[in-house]
Amino acid sequence: MEATIQYIEKELTGLYPKTEVQGFVRLIFWHVLQLSYTDLVLGRNQKLEKSSQKRIEAIVERLKKFEPIQYILGETEFFGLKLTVNPSVLIPRPETEELVQWIIAAVENENPSIIDVGTGSGCIALALKKELKNAVVTGVDISAESIRTASKNAEQNQLDVTFKEADILQWEKEKWEPVDVIVSNPPYVRELEKAAMHLNVLQYEPENALFVSNTNPLVFYQSIADFANRYLKETGWLFFEINENLGEELIRLLTDKNFAEVEIKKDINGKDRMLRCRKGDI
Ligand code: GLN
Repeated sequence: MEATIQYIEKELTGLYPKTEVQGFVRLIFWHVLQLSYTDLVLGRNQKLEKSSQKRIEAIVERLKKFEPIQYILGETEFFGLKLTVNPSVLIPRPETEELVQWIIAAVENENPSIIDVGTGSGCIALALKKELKNAVVTGVDISAESIRTASKNAEQNQLDVTFKEADILQWEKEKWEPVDVIVSNPPYVRELEKAAMHLNVLQYEPENALFVSNTNPLVFYQSIADFANRYLKETGWLFFEINENLGEELIRLLTDKNFAEVEIKKDINGKDRMLRCRKGDI
């Protein structure tokens, strides 16, 4: 094991920060051999089977090309849930866990109905169902592959959430029931912001989950706000994850569309990352 750990460190040092390499070592041994960190420390002198060594080498080769570890291993953790991920869905981010927390704290209804728009892996919808046991949760996404992945995640975690394919830009074409909470983490990175992004995001994650045009970066927010004006119950909440540079514009957009109590919340990095509002007087 010692030699394998050294091999992983040698191959990846320089490409990734030291702490990240240490994290990879842990994840790789956990994934390939189900060894905990303590097992690793105690069992340093044990020899690895050839097949395990080969599997580890294959993982390291993919990491050298900056493929995200979550796609390589095919899974990640979000809000205590083990989720399957693949390149058809965005890898759930810690900021989104903060959004989930904010929603849970705000919802007073014992059995709220919730729609998660652009659900991807299903992370928001599933985490909400895990915490709000009596909630009726639906996740929608334009991607059929995402719906398959999210449904698999519901099954794996034994959570009763409905996932369905729908294009929110065309919500008027479908039938919907009024709900207590609408939440969305839509694509919000402007094309002009691409340059600042990491290779592992740019080369591997789904573009349609991330990017919006420079000319109309709020297109999803506009459509979801109109949808919420129509289908959010009177006392309901609308929650968004947002681009840290577009907070002011979003406040204006939602105020113009007659939403009340519009409020932005910063993430752990001090960036404007989430917004919530309620339906105004009609
Ligand atoms: N926060 C993500 C990122 O910067 C973007 C998520 C999104 O577009 N909804 O990679």
